[in-house]
Amino acid sequence: MKNTVKRIALIVNQRPRSQEVFQKLSRMLRPYKQFELSRKNPDIVISIGGDGMLLSAFHRYKDQLDKVRFIGVHTGHLGFYTDYRDFELDLLVQNLLLDQGAQISYPLLQIKIHYQSGDIKEYLALNEATVRRTDRTMVADLHLNQVPFERFRGDGICISTPTGSTAYNKSLGGSVLHPTIEALQVTEVASLNNRVYRTLGSSVIVPRKDKIEILPLSDSTHTLLVDNHVYQVEQVSRFECQIYHRKIPFMASSKHTSFWERVRDSFIGEVEDE
Ligand code: NAD
Repeated sequence: MKNTVKRIALIVNQRPRSQEVFQKLSRMLRPYKQFELSRKNPDIVISIGGDGMLLSAFHRYKDQLDKVRFIGVHTGHLGFYTDYRDFELDLLVQNLLLDQGAQISYPLLQIKIHYQSGDIKEYLALNEATVRRTDRTMVADLHLNQVPFERFRGDGICISTPTGSTAYNKSLGGSVLHPTIEALQVTEVASLNNRVYRTLGSSVIVPRKDKIEILPLSDSTHTLLVDNHVYQVEQVSRFECQIYHRKIPFMASSKHTSFWERVRDSFIGEVEDE
């Protein structure tokens, strides 16, 4: 890996600051003959923006997870998938020069939609997938590893990955899960709970091999949110969720901040000494 040319794709959003960083990083990388800037078949994908931009970069290259590694540069505060701030480009270039191919990888979620017609459509999520109904109450049976677990009534059900646990899942009252724990989390979105209708109420953490199935009782339109993508689907017999057999690989470097540091810095801030 040391003496070969690395193909690097720079993926950037339209924000002026991100565009400036993109121009600067391109200028810094071009003189090195061991790097080639190319968005086609890259070895390394560098997203410039925020977590949302890294999600977009993931969706663009999700079919090449066996070949690519990702790096995130944040043009604001430090994000969950972004190791470098925009003023740390020198360090990023140094780490690219020192890079020996090491990676850190995180679990992904695979969602299969089984339509009543027999068709199956597959999606991959880095953060989460949420099945919802917006026009009226969603009624669906939830099966955990083929055990009919509960009949859900409410706005929807969110299934998150460990790294997605700090995103929408956390806003829904789910737990923060360390990404070395290969598990998915099922979180309710505004469930109806009274003397007639009952759900567990708390989020559930499901191990690696277990399947999570959501079986809607109505044929009508449901909204499927997969990270930052929205799909309207109907006549679905079940949504099947499981941990995907591949993970998302990130370039490992000394800059790859510990997960607990990220959680602390994002949600708590400085911890003061007594
Ligand atoms: P966006 O612009 O609406 O940003 C949502 C925020 O979530 C941003 O601050 C982003 O940095 C943050 N975020 C994204 N992934 C994260 C993660 N793994 N851990 C902690 N924070 C994270 O949308 P976007 O930037 O395109 O991101 C899409 C994600 O936003 C979705 O996958 C979902 O998790 C999240 N989201 C959250 C809520 C909520 O908390 N109520 C609502 C909608 C979407």
